[in-house]
Amino acid sequence: MKKNKTPILLFTLVLLAALLGGCGGAGSAAGGAADGAGRTAGGSAGAEPAQKASAVQPKSQTYFIFDTVVTVRIYDERAAEQNFKDLDVLLKEIDSRISRTDSSSEIYKVNANSGIAPVKVSPETFNLVAKALDYAKRTDGKFDPAIGNLVSLWNIGHEGAHVPPEEEIAEARRLTDYRKIELNEAAQEIYLQEKGMSVDLGSIGKGYAADRIYDYLADQGFHSAIIDLGGNVYAMGAKPNGDEWNIGIQDPGKERGNSIGTIRVKDKTIVTSGIYERFFIENGKLYQHILDPTTGYPVDNGISSVTIVTDKSADADALSTTLFVLGIDKGLEFIENTPNTEALFITKDKKLYATSGFKQLLHKTNDSYTFTN
Ligand code: ADP
Ligand code: MG
Repeated sequence: MKKNKTPILLFTLVLLAALLGGCGGAGSAAGGAADGAGRTAGGSAGAEPAQKASAVQPKSQTYFIFDTVVTVRIYDERAAEQNFKDLDVLLKEIDSRISRTDSSSEIYKVNANSGIAPVKVSPETFNLVAKALDYAKRTDGKFDPAIGNLVSLWNIGHEGAHVPPEEEIAEARRLTDYRKIELNEAAQEIYLQEKGMSVDLGSIGKGYAADRIYDYLADQGFHSAIIDLGGNVYAMGAKPNGDEWNIGIQDPGKERGNSIGTIRVKDKTIVTSGIYERFFIENGKLYQHILDPTTGYPVDNGISSVTIVTDKSADADALSTTLFVLGIDKGLEFIENTPNTEALFITKDKKLYATSGFKQLLHKTNDSYTFTN
């Protein structure tokens, strides 16, 4: 049996976006609550009931990019149509730099020139690859941005995904090696030493985009916004009345928008990687989209989701993937050595493993999930 939920889910969300996400229209947020409560990190539609109406109605826009529904909601009367147009341009610009599949992108050119020649890229792309490489080094390659061959071989989240032949997995695994990514800082060049190697920034790109949106909004003088890239949430600043944002943590066992509880934060990013995002089922076994470079197979370690709370969304995104691959023990150890960062693991058997800081933040509303520590 094969099952692939993503296209249907995306279709539904796009439809929702088309119906509700008018350009800059006052307060027309897709599935959101009146005062910005109830974004669900790891989910897309807001789940929490609307709380007291706030004086400032958000202006919002929904985009579809990076294979994801992106919603930006600005809680400021000054937000104008032009801001949403600028964001559209910004998102397209990011995609046209870091997409693995768009043949005009910088990353595509880096991959196409693997084993042939270094490629000069923009400082943004260079720095993002450098950041991804840092995580690869810190995890001895459990997180590996050179994972493009495995990602395209498994094709998880796309139509027709199935378990590939063993020899193809072995070959893709051989080409997945961050130690063969050469960065030349002075020349701003990236060189992949082996022909056929492929960089994939799917683990960090959406977080990076959230940071870029944040910077744009800050630059325009906005202090209050919810930036949501398919569960990668940046809760910018505070609510217009100065209160904390209330962000739902997706229940990995339920449809998007159902939460296990909420966390109250100001100016933080909340990013979740979960098995429910992109997967297929073959012979009764679920294969999700985070891969273990050492085995070449999807990680299957009892984890349902990992949520990170920190200050930069690119880091949160990389970390959610990293901790997923590392597993609970090594993941918690890793996060202890990462400043200003909190993490929550949810297991398939509904246990919660959290850093002490996350435990303090979480207002759990679902009793079927229990803390183990
Ligand atoms: P999503 O984009 O669904 O939110 P994540 O942020 O968790 O997901 O990143 C998963 C994506 O990262 C995969 O779709 C793939 O492109 C890439 N990836 C998968 N496994 C790894 C890994 N071990 N290291 C780095 N990137 C990975
Ligand atoms: Mg990630």
